[in-house]
Amino acid sequence: MIPFNKPYLTGEETKYITDAVASGKISGNGKYTQKCQQFFEDRFGIKKALLTTSCTDALEMAAILINIKEGDEVIVPSYTFVSTANAFVLRGAKIVFADSRKDHPNIDETKLESLITSKTKAIVPVHYAGIACEMDTIMDLAKKYNLFVIEDAAQAIDSYYVGKDGVKKALGSIGHLAAFSFHETKNIISGEGGLLAVNDEQFIKRAEIIWEKGTNRSSFFRGEVDKYGWVDIGSSFLPSEVIAAFLWAQLENLDKIQSVRKQHWEKYQNNLKTFAIDHNVALPVIPDYATNNAHMFYLVCQNIEQRTALIEKLRKQNIHPVFHYISLHSSPFYEGKHDGRNLSETDRFTDCLVRLPLFYELNVDTVLNQMLY
Ligand SMILES: *Cc1c(COP(=O)(O)O)cnc(C)c1O
Repeated sequence: MIPFNKPYLTGEETKYITDAVASGKISGNGKYTQKCQQFFEDRFGIKKALLTTSCTDALEMAAILINIKEGDEVIVPSYTFVSTANAFVLRGAKIVFADSRKDHPNIDETKLESLITSKTKAIVPVHYAGIACEMDTIMDLAKKYNLFVIEDAAQAIDSYYVGKDGVKKALGSIGHLAAFSFHETKNIISGEGGLLAVNDEQFIKRAEIIWEKGTNRSSFFRGEVDKYGWVDIGSSFLPSEVIAAFLWAQLENLDKIQSVRKQHWEKYQNNLKTFAIDHNVALPVIPDYATNNAHMFYLVCQNIEQRTALIEKLRKQNIHPVFHYISLHSSPFYEGKHDGRNLSETDRFTDCLVRLPLFYELNVDTVLNQMLY
């Protein structure tokens, strides 16, 4: 049986966890937390990285940082995970759902301007499958209307956007704030885990306070103040050193993990061309301005019946493909609150997209042999 996902362990995780436990400092913000944060800052050009217990938490921190309050509007794609919207709903925001592009589940940047009102506070682009949204357009709109951009980079580690100026920027380093995930289904994992990327310096100091339960403990540990106390709202967003130690074992192997995943992805793409034509399904599209981090390999069927039939056929061959998001604008929670706009591309991806197994230890040939013969 070929599962959809299988978490990959580098073998060093328990060694670093043992070291963290033996150090006697197992709460948050110790040696391993700092190693992981430094890695993101150095490698991806993030101004300040803060580890969190999930990407959901990082998004909630972002909503607090930009002072979302009752009545503010936040533009979010409808084709995404619930946390992208929930983090802002928790602070009273009204979510204005945006449609996907025709060629990709990512937010359609050409339709964003018409959604902006005097109440709009932020745009939250989601880099679906680790493929960049068209960030120049999104950042220009944010500048023009004085909005914040919070990248949901949950799936986007080690992926890049090449802007009109030709500069290649890591996803998660472009928006004012960004959130990554290390959930076991992502490329780099710690079971549950996440990271807040702060790229706009005005947010760095307050981000550390919110992260430390509303106290200025981080400044205290750096010797900047003689005592620490309650200075703002906040919560317990730091993971323990046990989680950070696990994550460090993964980050040290990022290049190895990425190169294997990319080989798998390219093998799928190169060998499914005829299959795609014969079965009338579309292969993934990667726009010129985006790189591929091999987070996901998916097919887009013509309709839901065709997708159901394809999933059933592959399951009989012991391969476990899975579909993905159900449009948030038609979810039981939001349906009554949505403004009624028809988001047809989002609905098409809801019905037609199917993801194939993709994980480090996958033997792609086994899947291909089953699919092709
Ligand atoms: C996985 C994922 C999340 C949530 O990440 P957690 O770390 O599980 O909180 C949010 N947004 C997107 C797009 C995701 O893929």
